[in-house]
Amino acid sequence: MVMTQRIAVLGATGSIGDSTLAILAAQPQYTVYALSGYHRLDKLFELCKQFLPKRVSVPTAAVDDFAQRLSTAGLDIDVVGGEQGLIDIAVDSQTDTVVAAIVGAAGLPSTLAAARAGKRILLANKEALVMAGQVMINAVKMHNATLLPLDSEHNAIFQCLPLAIQQDNTQIHQLEHGVRKLWLTASGGPFLQQSFEQMQQASVAQAVKHPNWSMGQKISVDSATMMNKGLELIEACHLFDLTEDKINVVIHPQSIIHSMVEYSDGSFLAQLGSPDMKTPIAHALSYPNRIESGSQPLDLYALSGLEFIKPDLQKFACLRLARQAMQSGTQATIVLNAANEIAVAAFLDGQIRLTDIADINEQALNDIQVPPLTETADIEDILTIDKIARHLTDKLVAKLN
Ligand code: NAD
Ligand code: MG
Repeated sequence: MVMTQRIAVLGATGSIGDSTLAILAAQPQYTVYALSGYHRLDKLFELCKQFLPKRVSVPTAAVDDFAQRLSTAGLDIDVVGGEQGLIDIAVDSQTDTVVAAIVGAAGLPSTLAAARAGKRILLANKEALVMAGQVMINAVKMHNATLLPLDSEHNAIFQCLPLAIQQDNTQIHQLEHGVRKLWLTASGGPFLQQSFEQMQQASVAQAVKHPNWSMGQKISVDSATMMNKGLELIEACHLFDLTEDKINVVIHPQSIIHSMVEYSDGSFLAQLGSPDMKTPIAHALSYPNRIESGSQPLDLYALSGLEFIKPDLQKFACLRLARQAMQSGTQATIVLNAANEIAVAAFLDGQIRLTDIADINEQALNDIQVPPLTETADIEDILTIDKIARHLTDKLVAKLN
């Protein structure tokens, strides 16, 4: 008898949630055990009707209303609330796999709880690793959890790594396996061909209009500033246990090659596909097997050319800042992530210009003083630094206005 895999989709109402649920709807071997949503609760309600999960998590203030609504519709679903609700779902003994698809620092506690409960984690929430990479990876090892990357670049690299590394995430010795470098590809975002001055004048609508990918607002702005690639660089250091100097970033505007592994013999292995998150999600869901993802197959005959460009670190300063933060250590990556979340929200809110994001991130990284993190630092210490950095970045934003 084939056992069904019970899936909890945290962040079910977002872009990754959409892609994940589209696959799950077509694959009866998976059961949607739990869902969560924060905004757009009407959409979450529709998802509950469609997938009939056993549990659902909503913001604390919405628990009673949402439970009432479900029961009026004749749906018997346990409603939990807030951060604790997400954690309860993540560690639930009935949950086999957690899809970590909440955006930002809000996704960290439940993702870490899933690791400590030894779950299979499909990780989209890169901010969790940027803030707490070491704590997360230690938890995965100690509790025998499985961490599979959904981020298309990291999923591509995972697929291109030797089987021995894929299968043993407790003993990763990349260099012994002949891995020389990782190459993260970046689309360059909507402003690749535009001047810094044009970027300065960009509206929110222009900034979130990604040329190749359809994504949530925060990651779309991160792609426009290339902070997304900076966060992904830090994510890759933790996932693949490499220092930042072993990871190159190359702009590849077509988004066909999703990343590469360079080996000591001169081989480059790449993973290609249409720019559709359903491919990496299907890979991680079914790993080590393969399932249909529903994504459009790549039409190689229709491709006219693949370009590779070295990123301009002056125009895309966030990429430089991410390397700087990774060299300085975890405190710096927490500060950078927090500052960036505040700055992106301020841009989306019309308070600052797109190019101010990098300036704010740089000031935060250089000027914000936070308590030192010790070897035994845990999530509370990380969240304390995150909170201080957010508070001080709010002031930097206010000063700009
Ligand atoms: P999104 O904004 O579309 O969705 C975010 C989800 O998180 C929603 O379900 C929302 O309700 C929930 N959420 C937001 N704030 C919350 C809070 N405070 N508490 C609990 N839940 C909250 O974002 P997305 O594009 O789906 O991205 C999700 C994550 O995946 C991000 O970390 C992003 O960097 C990563 N990612 C996304 C893509 C993509 O193609 N969209 C690709 C790679 C990685
Ligand atoms: Mg990515």
